[in-house]
Amino acid sequence: MDFTFNEDQKMLRNSLRDFLEKEMAPMIKEKEPQGRPLNHEEAVDVLKKFKKMGLSPDIEDMKAFGGDASLIGIMAEEIGRVYPGIAIIIGYSIGIGALIQFLPDGMEIKERLLSRIKRSEVIATYSLTEPDAGSDNRAMKTKAVLDGGEYIINGRKTWASNGPISDLCLLVVKDEKEQQQMFLVDRERSPYESNELGHMGLKLASTGELFFDNCRVPKDNNLTNIMAKILSGGEGMKLLGDFKIPSEMLNLFTMMTPVSLVLAILRTGMALLSVGISQAALEASVNYAKERVQFGRPIGKFQLIQNMIYEIAVITETSRLLAYKVLNLLSRGDPEFRKASSMAKAYACEEVVRAASYAIEIHGGMGLSDEYPVERYFRDARMMTIPDGTSNMNRLIVGGQILGMSAYI
Ligand SMILES: Cc1cc2nc3c(=O)[nH]c(=O)nc-3n(C[C@H](O)[C@H](O)[C@H](O)COP(=O)(O)OP(=O)(O)OC[C@H]3O[C@@H](n4cnc5c(N)ncnc54)[C@H](O)[C@@H]3O)c2cc1C
Repeated sequence: MDFTFNEDQKMLRNSLRDFLEKEMAPMIKEKEPQGRPLNHEEAVDVLKKFKKMGLSPDIEDMKAFGGDASLIGIMAEEIGRVYPGIAIIIGYSIGIGALIQFLPDGMEIKERLLSRIKRSEVIATYSLTEPDAGSDNRAMKTKAVLDGGEYIINGRKTWASNGPISDLCLLVVKDEKEQQQMFLVDRERSPYESNELGHMGLKLASTGELFFDNCRVPKDNNLTNIMAKILSGGEGMKLLGDFKIPSEMLNLFTMMTPVSLVLAILRTGMALLSVGISQAALEASVNYAKERVQFGRPIGKFQLIQNMIYEIAVITETSRLLAYKVLNLLSRGDPEFRKASSMAKAYACEEVVRAASYAIEIHGGMGLSDEYPVERYFRDARMMTIPDGTSNMNRLIVGGQILGMSAYI
């Protein structure tokens, strides 16, 4: 068992850290206190900066990260360390944008969006939650009804990250048979309205409601059908071109519904972002404990301060181990992936709140001041337990899988 990073992994971490400190941190320091989410133009600017680092929805860029799942971990952790809101903008836009490249040639959405996606100009959102369907997403009411060559979609979604500034939506709806289906919706071709929802942390990330009012989407944009075609192998596999997905991983995907697969991936991402926030809280606390002098000595000399440093460090390390284990299970196509992603999400996202709270305590009054970043770490950490399945729901998934019985079905 080897827990050390190899040279490639270290190189990615160092260059990404350097890029984030130089290109992102000053912008975040300036704009986050304004409390306003980035608009479309500003979000595209962020996306384009990441493209220069080789992180983009372009399949040619993605190939560099295809063979080693821990690189995903390093990226998410490092972005979380500097500002998790950035991960929301680029994560959805890269992940969902990349899907367009695997669609059959000639499809309208591919023709319309591909070149803009390759230039990192398309902001994407994922929309599952509705006002009356949060934890219980099966209660969703948004409906897609087939009408000739198009589906007509009606309904109201909420809490869509990037939703208000999105060009492209990965939308979960119900069809006439009450089955959940995922659609790719090109906003310009199939307009939907939106509004912004404010929240306590992740202030630069735009989040909002989406309104689908007789929104007409080409029949072919049903991603659930396209995924089924790819997973069934044979001709469908040709859609992947020379992009290699290990067969074990593909097998895993056949064992999960598309929605639970997307949620398990998002939960892993949330756990990794929480590791990044905990790491940032640890670094800030160590620096402060060495500098701040009370009773004639640095506060780091006091045993109770050392105990809080221990707590933050052990939260960071335990969360990291859980999250990287999930990546390992995913890359090996292990059926434990879903349970492990819920375990990592519930643990890391709850514990990061405790870590950030200790960081505030170590900073004393300055911990509550916006002169230091720890008050932001706390606000951002507190945002982690709810999206992509609350801690309760993830505990129920883990408990249910261990016991072989579900608490809510
Ligand atoms: C900032 C932010 C970003 C988000 N981004 C997205 C996004 O991009 N796309 C998207 O689709 N959604 C997104 N969401 C929505 C998020 O996934 C939901 O808020 C979440 O799933 C919880 O749903 P809810 O808010 O309706 O809470 P509810 O489901 O109403 O839950 C309320 C409380 O009841 C508990 N509860 C519910 N059912 C049970 C049960 N069976 N047993 C025990 N406890 C239970 C919950 O754990 C919670 O504590 C986002 C939310 C936020 C706040």
